[in-house]
Amino acid sequence: MTIIKEHQINKNSFLECEILIIGSGMSGQVLASKLSNKKIIMIESGKIKYDKNNQLLNEITEVGITSRKNNQSRIRQLGGSANLWANQLMTLDENEISERDWVNKNFSWPFNYHEIIKYYKESINLIYNNNFKDINYFDQDLEKNRNSFLENEILKEKVVNFNNHFWPAKVEKFNHNSKFAKKIINSNNLKFLENFTATEFQINDESQTIENIKVQSTNRTCTIKAQIYVLSCGAIENARILLNNEKNSKIFKNQNIGKYFMDHPRICLGILKSKQKISLSNLLGIKYKNYDFRKSVSLSKIYQRKKKILSAYAFLDPKYKNDDEIMFENFLYELKKLIKFKGLPKINYKNIKIKELFEQIYLKLSPQISNSNLNNFIRTFFEKKNYYLSFDEMYVNYQAEQFPNFNSKIYLSDKKDQYNQQKAIIDWQLNEIDYKTHNEFSLVLKDKFKSNTFLEFNEYEKKIITDANHHSGTTRMSLDREDGVVDKNCKFHDIKNLFISGNSVFRSSGCVNPGLTNSAMSIRLGQHLQRILK
Ligand SMILES: Cc1cc2nc3c(=O)[nH]c(=O)nc-3n(C[C@H](O)[C@H](O)[C@H](O)COP(=O)(O)OP(=O)(O)OC[C@H]3O[C@@H](n4cnc5c(N)ncnc54)[C@H](O)[C@@H]3O)c2cc1C
Repeated sequence: MTIIKEHQINKNSFLECEILIIGSGMSGQVLASKLSNKKIIMIESGKIKYDKNNQLLNEITEVGITSRKNNQSRIRQLGGSANLWANQLMTLDENEISERDWVNKNFSWPFNYHEIIKYYKESINLIYNNNFKDINYFDQDLEKNRNSFLENEILKEKVVNFNNHFWPAKVEKFNHNSKFAKKIINSNNLKFLENFTATEFQINDESQTIENIKVQSTNRTCTIKAQIYVLSCGAIENARILLNNEKNSKIFKNQNIGKYFMDHPRICLGILKSKQKISLSNLLGIKYKNYDFRKSVSLSKIYQRKKKILSAYAFLDPKYKNDDEIMFENFLYELKKLIKFKGLPKINYKNIKIKELFEQIYLKLSPQISNSNLNNFIRTFFEKKNYYLSFDEMYVNYQAEQFPNFNSKIYLSDKKDQYNQQKAIIDWQLNEIDYKTHNEFSLVLKDKFKSNTFLEFNEYEKKIITDANHHSGTTRMSLDREDGVVDKNCKFHDIKNLFISGNSVFRSSGCVNPGLTNSAMSIRLGQHLQRILK
């Protein structure tokens, strides 16, 4: 048995291992899977199953753009934020991690793009091998012609491109129900300590190493000594732990810790109205075999360069009539009641519109709750019958890359948590280029469809910016300590045995969801640690 609970640890115990991994989210777990020949301790601040008391440790204060609700964008539990994620998979493109002279001279990641492509493939094979063979597997399906007039009209203008998005039919939550997670926490080389939070680092300034780390639970404190320490606590907590420990050493300081905090700004830009009937297409999403895929609209690299803007994409999401949306919401509510054994569903069959109901089941439900057999059936029906969908308006839901901004940051509050650690303040800041990017995106749609016979774009006057729960950038990679916190191998610049994994090391965020890059980078770190621990 390698899962260790609080009561199985003696007060003030001293434990030793080769590698201490702090945090059991996707990043910590993927990393552990590449180190199966090493003696590992993995500590997790939450429990194996959700416990609301542990969530108090996530309390934050927000200044700047405040849109995320406290505790809803992260979870302290085995699997971390992946317990909440939608498992949408996207890959950064070369442009997004390279020098872009039109926005900033300091964007590029300190390694070659081809390296990350290699790790994307490995990450898909490692985590989803029952679902997909590799990234090329998707491409073969995307080649099939599922373009409707929508795609053709939009592509007529050379400034528009499409992006690819994928979801496996079964969401990998890295939690107690996941085969992947169970294999990790039950493996012989690894001890998993649940409900223990890393707090204080014992740093030896002379040897530039961490000697040990104090970990605490409600009733126990213990010390763990390792050859290598890896922080994989998510972008907010990685920065918070480092900042809390700055006072313990003269060398453990770096002006970039907590800085360049990034998320993906999301905005509904307006409504695209079609004057022609719409059929199912790549842009609206295809639920296929054992995964879903979808295209989104983005602006070409040439246009980004010309307008000096960042990368961004927009989904076209169906807008049903109010009554149809309410009918669907009520149906879902009654269905959930049945699934949770909270009573028999009270469905008013007179109000049900079959066509609109099935369309919304297919187009709106996320992979977490939709059923792949039903989806395959609905898709086949849509395709065979040359079916026209019943809506003619679509929301243009935009998500953009955030400019890496030194003033967008995590710093410490005077308030302390139960382990006497200062809590985090998040100051999420966007700058001029972020606003310019969404204005240009709207302009293109407005200009493009001004004289279009089939499509018309009505821009919202008031646009609300929200985040995407994609925290990143607070311990960014850099060639030297003046410009970032970790080196190209994710090692803290001034400490020989401290590494950081997860989105916090990203130098730029691209406009894509971070999970696949997070796991690709964790594999890369695992291989590096194998080399140095030989
Ligand atoms: C609602 C939502 C939807 C999302 N959808 C998508 C999506 O569709 N596609 C995508 O690519 N990304 C998505 N993301 C983002 C993605 O889920 C995260 O980027 C990713 O899961 C981060 O993984 P991580 O392991 O780096 O960090 P986390 O998942 O945050 O894991 C960190 C772990 O460390 C533990 N911990 C923290 N501090 C300590 C400490 N001091 N001591 C010990 N343990 C500690 C935490 O309890 C946690 O379990 C979504 C996120 C959310 C919240």
